[in-house]
Amino acid sequence: MITISIPPDIERTLLKALKTAGSKECGGVLMGEHMGPGQFAVRHATVQGGGRFSSFVRDTQTALRSLRTFFRQTDHDYARFNYLGEWHSHPSFSVQPSTTDHQAMLDIVKDVRVGANFVVLLIVKLSNRDALEASAHTYLPDGSFALSTLIFQGTL
Ligand SMILES: [Zn+2]
Repeated sequence: MITISIPPDIERTLLKALKTAGSKECGGVLMGEHMGPGQFAVRHATVQGGGRFSSFVRDTQTALRSLRTFFRQTDHDYARFNYLGEWHSHPSFSVQPSTTDHQAMLDIVKDVRVGANFVVLLIVKLSNRDALEASAHTYLPDGSFALSTLIFQGTL
């Protein structure tokens, strides 16, 4: 079981992206810090908008640039700071991953060029009260996946 913490600044980034995108999907890449056994904190979230999830995955140029900056800022300490996964919004339906979402994440985690031991998919939406609703799943290279625990660290 993997636990993902969302610090207040990342929560603000996601909320702002959701409000800007409105009824359109938005998404991006999550960079994380390894905090302890099975425990990760999101340290950076890129924001791409105006398309479907599959197009965010393909639109890697912006993401790669942010990743390089992130690695530089964290002194290339890959054991501690690394690619965590992907996030995107479901503006008009539940935050559960779709069949397409599951498949896209399994493609990423099985991709030897990514070389990940696991990848996380965070799905978010705005609740009626403009709060963040979210789910997180973790995907493994053997093709299995599991619901992960999400912890929101701060109140806005
Ligand atoms: Zn989705």
